[in-house]
Amino acid sequence: MDSIAMCDQTPLHDLWQHLSKPVPVDLEAMWLTTLRLLIAQSSSEGVESMAKYLAEHVTLGYHEGLKDAAKMTGPRNPLLVERAGTARLTALMDKTRTRLEGVFGQMAKPLTDILDEGIRNGDDVERIALRLKQYLENDYGRVIKFNNIGKQYRQAWVNPDGTMAWRTKTIRFATTMSVDDYANLLADDVSKKAYSQGHVAGYESAGLKKWVYSAVADNCTRPEHLAMHGRVITVGTDEEEQALALMDEANCRCRPKPYFGNSDVDRSSSDYAQERVQAFEKIKGDYVTDGPWGKFIEDSISHARREMRGKDQPEPAQPQAHVVSVG
Ligand SMILES: [Zn+2]
Repeated sequence: MDSIAMCDQTPLHDLWQHLSKPVPVDLEAMWLTTLRLLIAQSSSEGVESMAKYLAEHVTLGYHEGLKDAAKMTGPRNPLLVERAGTARLTALMDKTRTRLEGVFGQMAKPLTDILDEGIRNGDDVERIALRLKQYLENDYGRVIKFNNIGKQYRQAWVNPDGTMAWRTKTIRFATTMSVDDYANLLADDVSKKAYSQGHVAGYESAGLKKWVYSAVADNCTRPEHLAMHGRVITVGTDEEEQALALMDEANCRCRPKPYFGNSDVDRSSSDYAQERVQAFEKIKGDYVTDGPWGKFIEDSISHARREMRGKDQPEPAQPQAHVVSVG
């Protein structure tokens, strides 16, 4: 299905018809109220059609994740894809719908702003209608203006020892994006999220309570994602939400892997730690030694080395102690 075709059919364009009809003077106030309702209704219809379109992508992504999880757990834990259920998928679609409502609300806002301003200035309906028409003609359906400056959002943060925390970030810039680009971005984004959720749902239905965060250990990997490589994550925890939030970041290639809790099958944590050290040693030249990432990498390496030696063994004397943030 083509997102571009879908966006062209946004119902708000029907307002054109409404704006072209002459309005008797005594009905002006009612006309303006009706128009406001129409805008609200149109934007909720827009949410509906976009949500329907995304649901197809999301369902596919979810089932891909489930199938891959089934392949990985199958030989030891026979997994029925049907048994996995759709709770994680539903939760994801609920979140996506909230996001869509925000965006469509934002798309409709300039129109209601024009209405409000016109009414405040005592402009006649003809003039207000003309301004609305101009807006629809020039901007609507082509671009979305995101002006969320000052709004806060949370981001998963990784410490060099692989523990995680939420950090609050503030949006500092306004952006404009074409509707088509936004539709494609959203489709990619939610499909990827659905894939991870499907994966984890597969493990759950195979009776596994934990999974392993697996990063691609090469020189494109972000240091904080690499620090997560080999971390065992418990299903249904805040930590899981943070790990999945990391995987949702743009261009992330990290994936969940099953954790069986059986040392015959699971790779040991010291194997993962060794891979982290090797990858960090390779990428550290790409970062300024004195900068925050240079320090992050040094701290991550010393944590990983400690893990390779085994946690109970004392650390050999170091000429220079590193300050290590844990928490
Ligand atoms: Zn990643």
